[in-house]
Amino acid sequence: MQNFERQQPEGKDGNKDLKWVSSCPLCATEYAPEEARIVSEKEGAFLVYTNCKKCGSSVIATLIANQMGISSVGLITDLTYDDVVKFKDCDSISTDDILNVYEFFQKKESVKALIAG
Ligand SMILES: [Zn+2]
Repeated sequence: MQNFERQQPEGKDGNKDLKWVSSCPLCATEYAPEEARIVSEKEGAFLVYTNCKKCGSSVIATLIANQMGISSVGLITDLTYDDVVKFKDCDSISTDDILNVYEFFQKKESVKALIAG
């Protein structure tokens, strides 16, 4: 996955900030406005999902509007719109989760069992 970040003060090339929801970052095809779907909106921050008809890539972007203008952070994803809706309210991974995975892989037997299926 690739991660892109853009931030730009108001005025100068202001429209570039909306690139994440206006055209595909991979093939540069312009999205039709109805192709951008707002997943959630909270205190002026929007989570927007777009899917490119031409190359099939999907982007999740967070748009935040404030006095400085609009900033956006986009992420190319293989999630579908339904996946985004499903996972957006999930708990994040805790350090305990990571430790559990680490401990699991420390045991040779469990790795063998995993490979053996
Ligand atoms: Zn595309």
